[in-house]
Amino acid sequence: MVEIYGTLGPACASAEVLEQMLALGMTGVRLNLSHGTLRQAEPELEALAQAAQRAGLDGLAELFQKLHVALAALAVSCGIYSFTGTNTQADVKAIAEKNVIIETSRAKSIEHEADIDKYTRQLEDISNSREYDSIKKELENTNLLHQIDQKHITEAKEKIGAYRQAIEDLSDRITICRQDLEAKKEELEQIVGNTAGEEAQLRARREEFAARLDARTLSAYDRIRASVHNHLAVVSVYGGNACGGCFNTITPQRLVDIASGVKLVICEHCGRIIVNTDTQ
Ligand SMILES: [Zn+2]
Repeated sequence: MVEIYGTLGPACASAEVLEQMLALGMTGVRLNLSHGTLRQAEPELEALAQAAQRAGLDGLAELFQKLHVALAALAVSCGIYSFTGTNTQADVKAIAEKNVIIETSRAKSIEHEADIDKYTRQLEDISNSREYDSIKKELENTNLLHQIDQKHITEAKEKIGAYRQAIEDLSDRITICRQDLEAKKEELEQIVGNTAGEEAQLRARREEFAARLDARTLSAYDRIRASVHNHLAVVSVYGGNACGGCFNTITPQRLVDIASGVKLVICEHCGRIIVNTDTQ
């Protein structure tokens, strides 16, 4: 089988155009993410799902819908990571490491302070100048080491402060994303609630129409509806001379029958009922 890929872009980002591309034999799509984000590609995927639905490709429509949902979820998590560039687990580990440095430096600092005290006291009681010079040198050396300890402690504290800030920023952003998600959930529940009412209305109307049909026609309709894969038992003429369900060409005689609206015309290819939408 020949594979034909279409690249999703502004020129074909509508369900109408994509439906035609699918009808013309497009077997795959390429999503170009080099110029946009996943979030920006969402409408294109939505259009693709609609196009597949309209072309009667239920499996494909479901696949695109799943892809759309998965990519939207991915875009949300990418959003969290891309705009902070921080990683909480690594930050927590780094803080622990810096705390070890602080503890070690403090212990050394205490030892060095004791040495400084000791040398300072020794210097007071010494008369021998050679010994004095040697202890004086030790004292200077220890003082220097003590300064280095303090420097290490200060640096480690500053680093910890920066890591803590990064963690705080990230948790703020997570909170914002969670709130966003909650709002979206609410919105979704509302939509589901609204469409539930609409669905009940449509079902009631179906019952009304079904009551006006004879039993044989109704059972034929139900049978076609159950067997065709987009569950559309009644379709209109597509592009002037094709079945709106399977897109196969309709013979001229059948077209005349459909236009007249006198008898029920069944598509010889897919078994759907074809109607003239002009006369209803
Ligand atoms: Zn057909």
